[in-house]
Amino acid sequence: MRCPFCAHENSQVKDSRPTEDGAAIRRRRQCEGCGARFTTFERIQLRDIMVVKNENRREPFNRQKIEKSVALACRKRGVDQERLDQLVSGIQRQIETSGENEVSSKDIGSMVMDGLRTLDSVAYIRFASVYRDFSEARDFEAFASTVKDVGGA
Ligand SMILES: [Zn+2]
Repeated sequence: MRCPFCAHENSQVKDSRPTEDGAAIRRRRQCEGCGARFTTFERIQLRDIMVVKNENRREPFNRQKIEKSVALACRKRGVDQERLDQLVSGIQRQIETSGENEVSSKDIGSMVMDGLRTLDSVAYIRFASVYRDFSEARDFEAFASTVKDVGGA
C-alpha cells in the first residue's frame, strides 16, 4: 500500500482486526519510508457495480458516498457508528447480490430511506424530505447541501 504522505511503496501492518460486525478488516499501517501511520479497510466487493445517475452519466459504485449521506442524515442523533456501518453494508450487499451490473442512484436512495426508517425517525424524515428532489433530477450529493435546512437539530 503506497504511503499517502510520501508515496513510498511499502508499509508495515502494525495491527489488524475485524470491525465489530465482521464485515471489514481494519489495518493500522506504518510507512517504511517516512514512518507515518495510516489506516486501511479491507471489505468484500463481490462485483464491480456502476451507479446510473441519468441517461448520460454513470460512475463506479462508491460506498463512501452512501456513508456520507447516512452520516449527514443522522448528524447529532446519537446513532451508533456501528449501526450506520451495518446499514450501509446491508445496502451494499443488497446491490451486489442483485444480479445486476448497474443500480440507479434513485434505487440507492430508496434503500437508504428503508434503512433509516427503522434506525432513527428524525434521520429518516431529514433524508426523505430531500429524497424526492434528488431522485428526480440531482445527484446523490445534492443531499449534502440540503440536509442542513430540514429536520432541525
Ligand atoms: Zn511515507
